[in-house]
Formats: sequence, C-alpha cells, structure tokens
Amino acid sequence: MTVLRSGSATDTGLVRTSNQDSLVATASLFAVADGMGGHAGGEIAADLAVRTLESAFIRQPSGMGLADAVNAANHAVWKASEERPELRGMGTTLTAMALVNEQGRDILALVNVGDSRTYRFHDGELTQITADHSVAEEMVRAGEITPAEAAVHPRRHILTRALGVADGVEVDLWRIHPNRGDRYLLCSDGLTNELGNGQIAEVLASVPDPDQAADLLVRAARSHGGSDNITVVVVDVVLGDEVRDVAEPVVPVAQDFVLSARGATPVGVAEPMAVPEARLPTRRERRRERRRERRRTRSRRLITVRTLLFVVLLGAVLAGAYQAVRWFDTSSYFVGLNGNELVIYEGRIGGFLWYKPAEAERTGVTVADVPAEFLPSLRQGVEEPSIDKARTYVHNLEVEQALRTSSGTSGTGGIPPVPITSTTKAGG
Ligand code: MN
Repeated sequence: MTVLRSGSATDTGLVRTSNQDSLVATASLFAVADGMGGHAGGEIAADLAVRTLESAFIRQPSGMGLADAVNAANHAVWKASEERPELRGMGTTLTAMALVNEQGRDILALVNVGDSRTYRFHDGELTQITADHSVAEEMVRAGEITPAEAAVHPRRHILTRALGVADGVEVDLWRIHPNRGDRYLLCSDGLTNELGNGQIAEVLASVPDPDQAADLLVRAARSHGGSDNITVVVVDVVLGDEVRDVAEPVVPVAQDFVLSARGATPVGVAEPMAVPEARLPTRRERRRERRRERRRTRSRRLITVRTLLFVVLLGAVLAGAYQAVRWFDTSSYFVGLNGNELVIYEGRIGGFLWYKPAEAERTGVTVADVPAEFLPSLRQGVEEPSIDKARTYVHNLEVEQALRTSSGTSGTGGIPPVPITSTTKAGG
C-alpha cells in the first residue's frame, strides 16, 4: 500500500504577463506543463495537454497508460493547432508522475517530454531523474559540452522535443519504486533557472508540508528574478515500503513508447530569457556561516560581560574612594573667622583634595566676645572632631571672656587664662 501526499504552487513570475504553465495534482496523478507559442497559444497548449492527460490516464491507469495518455495529449494539442491558424506552432513540455499498480506492485510511473523536470529528493540528496530535451542538454549527453557550459548555452532554451508540434512524440518513461520518505519535485524551468540544486534541496529538507514547500520554492524563484512562469508540484511518499538500498535503478524505457522519433531536431523554442545566476548559500556554507556568527556573538558577549564587570568594579572602587575622602573631609570641623565673626566650618583647614571647607554654622560670636590671645589661633583655624565640640569650644571662649570681664569689673581676678580645650593651645 502506497500513499502519496502532494502540494503545488504556480506563479506568473515578475516578467511575463501571463502564466503559460499548467499543473495537475490529484491523489495519484501529478503533472507540470510549460506551454509556448504566441498569443494564447502557450496557455492553451499546456492546459489542453494536462486535461487530456488526466482524462486519458483515468481510462488506463498504468505505466503504459500514462505513456499513452501523453500521446493522447500530444495529439489533442497538435490537432488544435492544426484547426486554429492563430494557434499554429504552439506546443508544451510535459512531465508527469502517477501511482500505478502493476502485477500487484505499487509503482511510480514517470514520463517526460521537453525541459520541465522531475527530481527525487532522497536522504537529503536531490537528483534530477528526467533528461531535458533541449539542444544544450543533448550536447551535454553527447559529451560535447559540460553541464556548466550548458547552463549558459545560447541554445539552452531550444527544445529538441515538445508536445503538440507533430502528430506523434517520443516519450521517456521510468518505473520507480515508491520508497517511503522520498519526495518528488515536478517543476517548470522557471524554478530551475532561478534556483540551484542546493537551494531547492534546502527547502525540500526544511519544509515538511508539501504545499508549503511548493509555495516557498515558487516564492524563492520569484525573489531570485522570477523571469519566467514558475510551477512546482511536490509529492511525498508518506506510506510505502522503506527500501534502505536505493540502488534500485530508475530505468528509462522510452523505446517501448516511441511513436514518432524526431531525433535531435529542435521542435520548439522556449522564450529566451536572462536568468541571473543568483543563489542562496549552500547548506555547508550556511552551516559555516552560522558557526562563524556564533563565535562572533560569543566573543561579543564575552567582551560585553568583561567590560561591564570592569565598569562595575571601577565604579565600586571610585565610589569607595569618594566615600572615604568624603568621610575624612566631613568627619572634621574647625572654628575660624569670617570677618569679625567666629564660624564653624566643616572640612579640613585649607581644604582637602577638591573639598573646600564649607560654612557649617555661623555662631553670632564676634572677636570682641573672646579673649584676644585666642585670635591668632582662630585666624588659622582650631580643629574639633565634631560640630558639638566646635560649639563647646566657641561657648567656652565666650565664658572665658565673660569671666574675665566680670572678674575685671568685680575685682575678683586671679583666674589664669587657661587652655579651654585640650586641642587648643592657649595663645599668647
Ligand atoms: Mn518556462
């Protein structure tokens, strides 16, 4: 029992005015057609091809039936172009995959005409199964040019095989084992001209939902130029046998179904376009870049932490020093003179570092209120350990003077001028 799940997306792109791609995504049939031909020709050819394919395949759902359905589609397009002169020369590519049962075995049948592609994504590896029927790709297969040369070859968009340009077409057919977990990608060249294998694989690897994956691929191709119509069908084998050994060959059996071989004669020309070879980074490059970015971030963070730590510590040291200085400065007072008035100053005599002594208290006591022999000391400043001690000192000077005055007037005398506080030397 094999179960498939698919998602699809199509877009006109940024350059073309109409979408000449068509797609089919049913439970068991998937197809992408890229039409070409002037006026409405391309649109009609692609649309007619996939609709004819679908109805013909339903009547004969087998590998052989799918190849026959391609021939039915070819005939329908060719007939329409014969009957309507304005559609003459129209044609289309067609790649289609179908789940069929042959001799009791589920098989994926794959067909291709033209340069739309079917890829298998297995184990993170993207492999193109179909072979492009274009001049450049035929030259690669003949060993005349390299794939890199083919990518920029002037005739790379010239098809050697297309649907609807003759009454008969050679169809490539593959029978593939539906390996559980495998993912298939059917797409028009509007995707592969804009995105490299690595970019496509990146999306297929990272977006599990087939609809979202298809949508993201189309959007990526748009953002890389979108110079052509872009069509994507993603098919997941969600149920089926898991074959560890995928060496089982993908076998083209085209020769069984040749109705009309046209050799390598160009039969259709897809519109040439300028496709910038812009690309997303490969997975390895992205991993390397992520590692580099992580390292950068880590060292940035480390520097930040170190800087922060340094600033904090420096701040603490400075604050400590500031407090110490401030403490040293504010923990002392002195009594000095401001004009004739005794004033209590906070700070050190003459200042300390950037601290200038500040007036803490005016006493209202003048030089006339204190004994004269203390004046030289007061002019220099008399230190006291606290503001209370400073007040006491001033008070004592007043008392001393008052005693002297009263003793002088009352005649008691005999009281010597003694030092009033231990920190004050009596002048004189
Ligand atoms: Mn195209």
